Amino acid sequence: AIWNLGSINADMVYALPHMPAPGETLAADSLDQGLGGKGANMSVAAARAGSHCCHIGAVGPEGKWAVDRLTEYGVDTRHVVTGDVPTGHAIIAVDKAGENSIILFPGANRTISEDQLGQALSAANSGDILVMQNETNMQAEAAKMGRDLGLRVAYAAAPFDAEAVQAVLPYLDLLFLNEVEAQQLTEATGKAPEALGIADVIVTLGAKGARHFAADGTVSDVPALPVKPVDTTGAGDTFTGYVLSGLDRGLPMAQAMAQAARAGALMVTRNGAADAIPDLKEVQDARF
Ligand code: ADP
Repeated sequence: AIWNLGSINADMVYALPHMPAPGETLAADSLDQGLGGKGANMSVAAARAGSHCCHIGAVGPEGKWAVDRLTEYGVDTRHVVTGDVPTGHAIIAVDKAGENSIILFPGANRTISEDQLGQALSAANSGDILVMQNETNMQAEAAKMGRDLGLRVAYAAAPFDAEAVQAVLPYLDLLFLNEVEAQQLTEATGKAPEALGIADVIVTLGAKGARHFAADGTVSDVPALPVKPVDTTGAGDTFTGYVLSGLDRGLPMAQAMAQAARAGALMVTRNGAADAIPDLKEVQDARF
């Protein structure tokens, strides 16, 4: 099984004629609302890929729709709590050129308690996978708990924060970075990510595919599939969720990454975040 300490957001995407200037009031041409947040995206990807994924997270009083939607996609939500702090949300402004500006309100995502975490992970079995990103609180506590319980501990260093990554580094078995995050981590630590003593490091390279650095020093590349991207939101989260699910389902890393590359490629051909994530059958049947 996969345990995901992760964010749950309402994504509100406003199409605008141009980015609002300071002091300007601007009417949007349209509004698209959906489920997002790096955590929720990864849970949906892992569940749609066929894994039992248990999400550990929090929403506000008005967040029932988000929990219902996660459940609908096959995510186990018994450890998603509802509190008084509003559900996290992202206000995403997209201009005519496709450029975006995002206001992120973390809200309930930063209210996870150590008790909640401990209670959830008390049901985990050694060998299960634990994953975190950087849109909640409690990552370092979770990583340490995971290590103590004999779980395989994975972390996606996004959104990048040097202090947050370095706090979880000692407990990691698997680290996911995109190209920019890999550069930022190298600057923060003075070492290449693959030299940090983590068993598996995966660097995603967008349309250039992904690279795996194994503990024994082996470096393997997985190519990207040729597609015309329309919206790259959630590509990395989908890729990560699919890799973790592949490993959870017993695939070797190379096969898990190949499946994830197909899922990521499909994802960039679709608008939206969690709601756009393909299931395993779509990923297997897709022609590129
Ligand atoms: P992030 O969204 O975290 O920045 P990437 O952009 O590196 O992550 O994308 C993650 C993965 O999704 C890539 O490794 C690749 O497999 C797939 N992907 C992303 N963009 C494209 C693209 N333009 N064409 C094909 N595959 C893509």
